[in-house]
Order: sequence, then structure tokens, then C-alpha cells
Amino acid sequence: MSQEEQTNPKENIAQNTPGGQRCSLCNIPQREVLMEFQRWKLVRTKTMKGHKERLMLFHKEHVRAVDEGSVGEAYLLLMKAGSKFFSYTDKWAIFEPVYATVPDHWHRVASDLDESAQDYGQILKTPRMIIDNHEGTIFRAYPDSGSLGQTGHST
Ligand SMILES: [Zn+2]
Repeated sequence: MSQEEQTNPKENIAQNTPGGQRCSLCNIPQREVLMEFQRWKLVRTKTMKGHKERLMLFHKEHVRAVDEGSVGEAYLLLMKAGSKFFSYTDKWAIFEPVYATVPDHWHRVASDLDESAQDYGQILKTPRMIIDNHEGTIFRAYPDSGSLGQTGHST
């Protein structure tokens, strides 16, 4: 099947598909996996949206939610991997899944903050954790406007 954020959001509602049989994340081929951890896999997203680098960390199991400790572990692994993959840029970010098209499978997307990227407008509307490679700082950013009620992708 197709990749994250490429499918029609309506088709991602897995009402009559228990488990991850038709889940795009569950069906990512092993050859696309950049890094593998005990409970997580890291891949490059198929849709780069104009970014030089765009990554996704997802749980190996088809789970919608994970506990707080696991969220912390996922962010830590993504931050460590990201510091390598995003070393070409000053700042990059991990995004909250506000616009995720696969809400049934826990994952986080990270990309650089290139203002000319196709999804930069959407980035500004997404709560995100910004990592500054040079300063070594991490801070949270929230949408400027209150237009979070919208779902789905504009592209
Ligand atoms: Zn899945």
C-alpha cells in the first residue's frame, strides 16, 4: 500500500480492518528501515514535501497509544537519530500528530524547518518540538493561529 500522508485520509479509517493488515506503517518494507530499536523503527518518509530530510519513528506494533514512558523513549531516540540526520541544518522539529493520516498507529514525524518546503504553512499550525543543533536547546512551539480544528492535509 501507499505511504504515510499519501493516502486519502478517509481511506485510513480502519473500521473494518482489525490489526494492521491494511495499515501503511505496518507494511513498510524492512529495506526502508534506517534504524531499528527494540520497539521502534525509523524510516525516511516517502513524501518529503520539499524537505531535504524528513523522518518518521513508529512503534513496531500496531498500537494507537503508548504510555508516557514510551513516548519519552520515542522522543529520545528520535532526537538522537535526528541530530545525525539533520546535522546539515540549524534547527529541525518533531511534530505532534495533529495532521497525521494514520492515527491508529503511533508515530512521530520530524523534518527540517525549511521555509520554502511545501508544508511550511502546516508546520506553523502544528505543535512541535524544535531542536537547535548549534545551541543544543529544545523548545516547544505552538500554532500562531487557533486553527487547529481542521483535520486532514491541505496538499
Ligand atoms: Zn499499523
